Amino acid sequence: MNIIIALAYLLSSILFILGLKNLGSPKTARRGNQLAMTAMLIAIIVTLTKNEILDFTLIIIGLIIGSAIGAIIARKVQMTAVPQMVALFNGLGGGASALVALAEYNRFSGDLRIDVIISMVVSLFIGTVTFTGSLVAFGKLQGLIRSAPVVFKAQRFLNILLFTLFLIMGIIVIINPANSTGLLIILAIALILGILFVMPIGGADMPVVISTLNSCSGLAAAATGFVLSNNILIICGALVGASGFILTRIMCKAMNRSLVNIIFGPVGTVSVNNNNNDKRKVINYTEEDASIMLEAAKKVIIVPGYGLAVAQAQFALQELVTMLINKGIHVRYAIHPVAGRMPGHMNVLLAEANVSYDLLFDLNGINGEFKNTDVALIVGANDVINPSARTNKESPLYGMPILNADQAKTVVICKRSLSPGFSGVDNELFYQENTLMIFGDAKESINKMIQLLKT
Ligand code: NDP
Repeated sequence: MNIIIALAYLLSSILFILGLKNLGSPKTARRGNQLAMTAMLIAIIVTLTKNEILDFTLIIIGLIIGSAIGAIIARKVQMTAVPQMVALFNGLGGGASALVALAEYNRFSGDLRIDVIISMVVSLFIGTVTFTGSLVAFGKLQGLIRSAPVVFKAQRFLNILLFTLFLIMGIIVIINPANSTGLLIILAIALILGILFVMPIGGADMPVVISTLNSCSGLAAAATGFVLSNNILIICGALVGASGFILTRIMCKAMNRSLVNIIFGPVGTVSVNNNNNDKRKVINYTEEDASIMLEAAKKVIIVPGYGLAVAQAQFALQELVTMLINKGIHVRYAIHPVAGRMPGHMNVLLAEANVSYDLLFDLNGINGEFKNTDVALIVGANDVINPSARTNKESPLYGMPILNADQAKTVVICKRSLSPGFSGVDNELFYQENTLMIFGDAKESINKMIQLLKT
């Protein structure tokens, strides 16, 4: 029986790895999901058939409640709310690992081998930090908590103090596993540290936070795997931890940030610098002005952003692009790595509208082209084209590479108002002389342009 279980776990691990590999490209992502789902199903069935389980009642209740909640969320959640759902799932994964570690501790009444108690402390700490940190990330993405950094005096000192306290308590508990109060103190420290870790991080840096929390949820699961001596949990957790770490590195590179700088960055110095009494004038152009500019252009670059997802304007936008191409205009999409609210958000949206991959260019591939471009058409993007990232050292966006849309001969921006993007930073591009602001829902504006170009 043991050999069958080991082989099934091996098969599940292989399927997880193949699933991850397929998730690397939008073309194969669906297959990747199917492979990973099969792997998870095998892992669950095999674990349930292990004869260590004496009573299935609670497991069945948990399966029914969990599956029902999962199915409802998956059916109901809007595409734009997927990032916060991912943040919540990361948190629940971390929380589950921490709870399993506590349950195992309770089962053995503190009589534990050193490797097991070390794994428990690690799982409890990382899992709990991931749980509360992810809840804060969820709140920021859902708009329940303001996305701007929340900072207070001595914040960094408090973080260091709490972390040092955790290390001391961790050593005490490892030396004397019967010290259950120590474990509860670690739980309390981790609950607070998770909140303190994410609160001061501004909206623009959230991609790095989410991928880091994702990686942490994997590490917590792997540590729990050691607690339970369960190989598939160790492998699965390590895969999530490693892939989350790779994603974190990619996001840090995309934003020209170091992880240490984001977590321990200069707390309290970020000023959003919005000027609500701004006297600068913005001329309200119309879709007619925009379509005239587009029709007269030879080269157009489209910059999609989060607003494209909100407006669900991807189909209309692709229709407009096809029309322009048919008129002999050279059109390309510029995709910023952190555009939207999750990695690859724009690629997923545009894939839905069957946009050819040949039209999509990443930041490095297209940034030099804006200066030779007649029209940069911005659809619901804001932070990723904000020039303050280049010039304003006080801006939370400072240092993040942006798309050079401001260098195009004419910039057409489709959004509903002058309100800032997720970082909360005002965008001076709105006031630039060569900018045409088209206020309104992106889908409605694009549809109007399509109608005008038809006539
Ligand atoms: P932003 O969040 O900077 O801006 C989106 C803009 O879309 C808003 O300014 C909004 O303006 C506009 N908008 C909203 N709804 C509509 C609509 N219906 N029609 C037209 N416009 C609309 O988006 P970007 O994509 O430029 O930047 C992404 C930001 O999110 C970055 O700061 C990034 O760091 C952060 N982030 C990214 C993650 C990722 O993994 N990609 C994860 C977490 C955060 P208005 O209200 O005036 O219409």
